[in-house]
Amino acid sequence: MNKLKIIIGVILLLLILFFSLNKNNNNLMVSFLDIGQGDAILIQAPTGQNILIDGGADNKLLSEIAKNLPWWERKIDYLIISHYHADHIMGLMELLNKYEVEHILTTGHQPTDDFLYQIWIDALTAHNLRETIVQPGEKFILNNNLSWQVLLADGYHEDYNENSLVMRLSFGRIDYLFMGDLPSTQESKLLQSPFILESEIFKVGHHGSQYSSGQDFLAAVSPELCIIQSGQGNKFGHPHQEALDRLRTIGCQIEQNQFRGTINIISDGQNWLIR
Ligand SMILES: [Zn+2]
Repeated sequence: MNKLKIIIGVILLLLILFFSLNKNNNNLMVSFLDIGQGDAILIQAPTGQNILIDGGADNKLLSEIAKNLPWWERKIDYLIISHYHADHIMGLMELLNKYEVEHILTTGHQPTDDFLYQIWIDALTAHNLRETIVQPGEKFILNNNLSWQVLLADGYHEDYNENSLVMRLSFGRIDYLFMGDLPSTQESKLLQSPFILESEIFKVGHHGSQYSSGQDFLAAVSPELCIIQSGQGNKFGHPHQEALDRLRTIGCQIEQNQFRGTINIISDGQNWLIR
């Protein structure tokens, strides 16, 4: 019996070693999770960290993470919250019970009179966690080939969407721009900023709303691939035709979770492809 246990243990260890070596293959995986109407993006770095941007509206987040992370990985190294709307944070409540979350990055928008925000802060307190407020220009460097920079992190607008945390991730020569639900009124602020916006992969702002993705802004980003995270038959009618037309005008490939399910983009730092 003991021998059998040892053999099973050794086999399990070998399997874990095999899969972790397999994973550590110098590629970056960015998964736009199919969680219905909302945002949730899982990033698996070749340096070993797991980064999650937003968590959708419900527990679909957990089943999607389970499908995309090896079962023994129970750690989210960086959780990045774009803003405190339900379709970005509700799924995160249960995440805290199932995964070890190390760093939580968010903007200075702390709506203490908001019921949902209060529940979130209570959940953080129960898990002995604290948020870190980031500033535009702040850079997070994982190695000399992989980093991300905060481009926008306002905290004073009444409209939550205008406070969206915008960040640009760079892996080798491939750049990814994550917009949260930022509207065009704030895109102009980015256009006036000193930051480089050009990015191969573009997470379209606000689920493809007509009030985001202005023509000038899209021209500055000049993306090859545009990802729209919106749910089938959502009540907002996202994505709007006007936004789709503007995206088509700049000639990017448009992919939507509601038609493709979870969209996995793998990159070696030189090229990207959808897997
Ligand atoms: Zn949203």
